Amino acid sequence: MKRLGIYVQVPFCQTKCTYCNFHTGVVAKERFRPYVAAVCREIREHRELVRAAGVTWGTGPLQESREVNECSHGGTARGEGAASRSSGQASGENKETECAVDTVYFGGGTPSLLETRQLEDILEAIRETSGTNGSRSVEVEGGFAPPWGPESNRDSVRPRREEGGPPDSHHNELANRSGENQAVFQEVTLEADPETVEEEKAAAWVRAGINRVSFGVQSFSDKELKAAGRMHRRTDIYRAVPILREAGIRNISFDLIAGLPHQTKDSWKQSLAQLISLEPEHVSVYLLEVDEGSRLGQALLTGSGQYSAGAVPSEDEMAEFYEMARAALGAAGYRHYEISNWAKPGFASKHNLKYWRREPYLGFGAGAHSFSGRQRWANAHDAAAYVRAIESGRLPLEQLETVTGEQALDEELFLGLRQLDGIDVGRIEREYGVTLGGRLEPLAAAGLLEREGDVVRLAEEKLSVSNEVFVELMK
Ligand code: SF4
Repeated sequence: MKRLGIYVQVPFCQTKCTYCNFHTGVVAKERFRPYVAAVCREIREHRELVRAAGVTWGTGPLQESREVNECSHGGTARGEGAASRSSGQASGENKETECAVDTVYFGGGTPSLLETRQLEDILEAIRETSGTNGSRSVEVEGGFAPPWGPESNRDSVRPRREEGGPPDSHHNELANRSGENQAVFQEVTLEADPETVEEEKAAAWVRAGINRVSFGVQSFSDKELKAAGRMHRRTDIYRAVPILREAGIRNISFDLIAGLPHQTKDSWKQSLAQLISLEPEHVSVYLLEVDEGSRLGQALLTGSGQYSAGAVPSEDEMAEFYEMARAALGAAGYRHYEISNWAKPGFASKHNLKYWRREPYLGFGAGAHSFSGRQRWANAHDAAAYVRAIESGRLPLEQLETVTGEQALDEELFLGLRQLDGIDVGRIEREYGVTLGGRLEPLAAAGLLEREGDVVRLAEEKLSVSNEVFVELMK
């Protein structure tokens, strides 16, 4: 059974962090209500909205079959008709298979700013349109159609636990606490800022079905947090974690950023030690991104010195911080499973794994991205324009792209190698009808990749320069 992830974008924050290059805005709380109403409407009317916007369903995932082979040999993109013909080994007959929504991810922005009632409304819209107690959709001609629309099968399907996933007892516990409609999705993540966590709110999140909280911790140094324009301080992190644990959240993720202004080897070591002492189940470590999209990035690029740009660590220091994180987290029992992500056994992010595995997901809200296995599309980023469009019965599509065979192959390599388990070269060569030796061997000879039978992965000591490896690989 194919699994479907749902992403909900909440593009609102309390302030704008200096390093932030996301499309988020600081708005009055009154703006939340129409936005949530628009998201709920987009979810409920999704099938019609995307169809009217030009997205097509059921054209067949490129991972499958001859189409990809032909693409690779021919080196050209396949049109929709061609896709239908080739995947249509079914010859026009709809091949129906179930496609269950098993993960929901509220990202942002700061989704924890929403009132719990608003989060519940969105979850309710997802449940309603995808079946009361779980969900399934219909797969058509090797692709998939979302669980929206008249042909949707509303039977209840309880998501099955993945091997190695968190124990079912946790889901049962949540279900018992929160009533029949809860815990129907395997993983429901809420991104939160530590200062937004309150006891009542946390308890209500659990009742709503949220079972994973991803904290934008970024640092345990108040000096670094202040310089970065963060609202929270170290004490907020220590206050928030017990509140979440008490409420019943058994899956907490912390984000850290290597490269914040004023960060030193010593302060980074302290941040890692304090993070580990709080025992989150999951950790993400990101390197500071320097681009024009953030105020700090602009200051660095123009050499203005604003936003403490002069106190940003060097690239070499950031690479060293990354290696320190690898060593400390590994020693503390975290498994490094993706370039930027570590997890205790069974706690790898089920939702984010879909992105790296090229599994389908639907995104709702301003700027949200979707992937059907065949096409990628994105809503417009401007929240006000998004709300206006949805209110007038239209999806403000900003991008719509049919993934070509070559693009799909590049994605397999690029996204696959982000995972430390690496890629199965034999599978990819079979599915895409290509030989990868010419692309991979020079990188292996240069010590950037390691090969073990059919499995190729990034060399461990090159993880901190993975971008350079990917640039070489895509040449
Ligand atoms: S909280 Fe996150 S999304 Fe909001 S401004 Fe800061 S970095 Fe950007």
